[in-house]
Amino acid sequence: MPRAVRKQIITELPNPCLRNSADRGYSIMKRIYVNEKWCLGCHLCEYECAFANSGMTDMVKALKGKTIHPKIRVEDGGDVHFAVNCRHCTEAICVKSCIAGALSKDDDGMVRIDKDKCVGCYTCVLVCPFGAIMPSADGHAAQKCMLCLDNLCGEPNCVKHCPNNAIVYEER
Ligand code: SF4
Ligand code: SF4
Ligand code: SF4
Repeated sequence: MPRAVRKQIITELPNPCLRNSADRGYSIMKRIYVNEKWCLGCHLCEYECAFANSGMTDMVKALKGKTIHPKIRVEDGGDVHFAVNCRHCTEAICVKSCIAGALSKDDDGMVRIDKDKCVGCYTCVLVCPFGAIMPSADGHAAQKCMLCLDNLCGEPNCVKHCPNNAIVYEER
């Protein structure tokens, strides 16, 4: 998808995928929202994501000399930068498209991936309108943001460390 179109989807258009979560039986959950006007393009969020999901407590040991595979990524186009990650869509097309039942919706509305069930077909990678699900480092499965709820951080580490509040974690 061209970068300009994706930017419009992410930052400007109302997102029909996120509407009516209460009608669908989910609570109004907190999600990560992007404010591209404030993004510095520093890519710190990508490193904080990789660290948060490394299982280690020392950032230098976790990342030094390694290629990172974050679940958030920053798109850069001239003076415009914006972070892209999963929106946990109410009508999640990735969940509907998964042939292996590896993607599911929690009762709280979070979209989860079970890597043990994933067969690495990458249908979800193709259908996600945000480009928010991607191959994992080993290339055998998909990976996506799960809001740091299952790791040591317990809340989105990218949001906690963004120096300019360009990504926020809130209910809307
Ligand atoms: S940490 Fe914040 S300012 Fe830096 S690239 Fe990520 S979203 Fe943008
Ligand atoms: S991976 Fe994409 S389609 Fe699936 S819930 Fe996240 S943003 Fe929506
Ligand atoms: S790559 Fe994995 S999670 Fe994505 S559609 Fe295929 S089986 Fe499902």
